[in-house]
Amino acid sequence: MKGNVLISGAGVTGLALAFWLDRAGWTVTLVERSAEFRRGGQAVDIRGVALDVVRAMGLLDDVHALRTQLKGMSMLDADGHEIHRTDERTYSAGRLDSEDIEIFRDDLCALLMRALSERVEFIYDDSIHAMNDRDDGVNVEFASGLARRFDLVAGADGIYSNVRKLCFDAETEIVFPLGVVLALFSTPNSIGLKDWQIGHRVESFGYVIYPSLDQRELRIGVGFEAPEPPLSRGDIDAQKQVVAEHCAHLKGDFPQFIDAMKTTEQFYYNELAQIRIPSWSVGRVVLAGDAGYCASPFSGQGTSLGLVGAFVLAHALTHAHDFAAAFAAYETRMRPYVDLNQALVDLDRQGPVPDELLDEAKNGIDLADLLSAQT
Ligand SMILES: Cc1cc2nc3c(=O)[nH]c(=O)nc-3n(C[C@H](O)[C@H](O)[C@H](O)COP(=O)(O)OP(=O)(O)OC[C@H]3O[C@@H](n4cnc5c(N)ncnc54)[C@H](O)[C@@H]3O)c2cc1C
Repeated sequence: MKGNVLISGAGVTGLALAFWLDRAGWTVTLVERSAEFRRGGQAVDIRGVALDVVRAMGLLDDVHALRTQLKGMSMLDADGHEIHRTDERTYSAGRLDSEDIEIFRDDLCALLMRALSERVEFIYDDSIHAMNDRDDGVNVEFASGLARRFDLVAGADGIYSNVRKLCFDAETEIVFPLGVVLALFSTPNSIGLKDWQIGHRVESFGYVIYPSLDQRELRIGVGFEAPEPPLSRGDIDAQKQVVAEHCAHLKGDFPQFIDAMKTTEQFYYNELAQIRIPSWSVGRVVLAGDAGYCASPFSGQGTSLGLVGAFVLAHALTHAHDFAAAFAAYETRMRPYVDLNQALVDLDRQGPVPDELLDEAKNGIDLADLLSAQT
């Protein structure tokens, strides 16, 4: 099958889906709510089968070259004094002798963007406003007023997916909050931190900090219990205020990071949740990545799920005789892998995901037949 597809969201999943569908001869349009390429966030992990997908994209060497270079980590107390250090693992990536790749999310997205052909159309600073899913296509109205028709719409627009809200069951049925906020922001690297991670954890509060690949920025992640009621998604001032309040007891260098946070534009506030939906498609509309099956950063597998999901969906769409058959094939193959990875999250666990559980989950899908069809 071939046709014209609209992908909502130019994150890892949307870009990877655009890559595969364009390569298979589809006409691809990406709509991204941000006004331009979105930077920021910490590092994400590419593990197990997802590495095979990246290899099939021809990007494994580039991804290797961009991997984080962290040499270890220190845990600090609230006063900023080191209480433990290790050069065997980091909080964010796990074991440093693993073959898995930790890479900054924006470095990975920039790489995927460069890998796209010029045929892929980008619409920035816009969003789907309404969709009319008909027998012969989907009529899409954009927030900007633009109106277009597509054969298919894919929602790759993240945990707060707009496509999901427009087309699927009530959010209360499918969004399972984990009761934790993860706030991510970038500041200048005012402390000269180099290839090293620092972290702090007491009960449900913690932070992790590491420098960007060029060492110029600090990428800071702060986690704490989600406020009740939840903050409004668009109210960034209120979100920054809550982060500042939760960090007010921290001494050492932290107060200067909070000062810098107040003015940074690279700020991402996420009330962690898992997305569990009985079906990932309705009519000609389908979900992929965090939009359809977010496992949360606690799993460490969100990016791998997005990369693998994009590959499996594109393959199904290209080889099935109609949308319904493609969506069914995508779901049959992906669902057990998604379930295994969502099950990695255990909020009562203090340490990292045990290695044997992660090994099983990251390899929990057999793509040999699909991958050999690519070569
Ligand atoms: C800024 C940012 C920072 C992140 N940092 C981390 C991190 O440090 N650690 C971690 O584990 N995970 C992080 N994540 C999540 C991680 O990227 C995903 O779990 C994983 O890569 C799967 O990605 P995805 O493409 O499915 O979703 P996402 O990465 O969430 O990408 C979704 C894309 O859709 C866009 N979008 C949202 N709404 C609309 C709309 N209405 N119309 C059009 N486009 C829309 C977003 O701007 C974004 O570009 C971050 C996500 C973002 C957006």
